Amino acid sequence: MITVEKVSKVYALEAGDFTALRDADVAIRKGEFIAIMGPSGSGKSTLLQILGGLDLPTSGSVVVDGVRLEGLGEKERTLFRRTRVGFVFQNYQLLPMMTVSENIALALAANRTPKADIERIVDRLIREVNLEGKASSFPSQLSGGQQQRVAVARALAMKPALILADEPTGNLDRKNGEDILRLLSRLNKEEGITVVMVTHDPHAAKTADRIITLRDGAVVEDAVLEGAGSK
Ligand code: ADP
Ligand code: MG
Repeated sequence: MITVEKVSKVYALEAGDFTALRDADVAIRKGEFIAIMGPSGSGKSTLLQILGGLDLPTSGSVVVDGVRLEGLGEKERTLFRRTRVGFVFQNYQLLPMMTVSENIALALAANRTPKADIERIVDRLIREVNLEGKASSFPSQLSGGQQQRVAVARALAMKPALILADEPTGNLDRKNGEDILRLLSRLNKEEGITVVMVTHDPHAAKTADRIITLRDGAVVEDAVLEGAGSK
């Protein structure tokens, strides 16, 4: 599903170049649930953004879901993001002026899906994330846990093979965090969606099959969890 080879990301700053990722190699198979851990500033979000086509590596090669990302133009990357991956962020990133339904429908509308199909798909997704009755609510009217479930529904709209989640439980209390982890785990185990989740919470990381640890932009550990695949 994902092959990252010798990927580096260098930011040119006034104080000089800063290397956020250095020669990172990562291979992820279809259907895995991966946790990416590491201290703050170790390059976790940078790696996730490169995997999702939100950012380009300075060097190295990235192939995700059969698409080679480092050579893609802006337009092709936008299409890749919209159709191949679902993103979930720590702060939900919902559009505040849009309802729950409209937020979930964004990518479908951008992809010119017929209105009747959009309604049917959004309906199903709202049920899938347990938000019945909230279709016409605005994000500000929902709890953090509910907003994150909207974000997961939105991520699923285009039936992506891959979900990239950056600290998805970071703003949530324990119970709401566990709801999100259970939801991601179910999507992984029952629908076969590959999940790559950045977290610095060791408890959250236990939901994964494998933990990849970054330090100073390099992969320093790659560990399969005992009992992986049994959850
Ligand atoms: P993490 O998610 O592990 O906390 P990040 O990937 O966000 O780390 O950042 C890694 C390093 O790269 C940090 O030191 C950060 O300051 C730096 N960095 C991230 N994005 C940029 C940017 N757009 N410009 C300059 N430096 C950046
Ligand atoms: Mg980060």
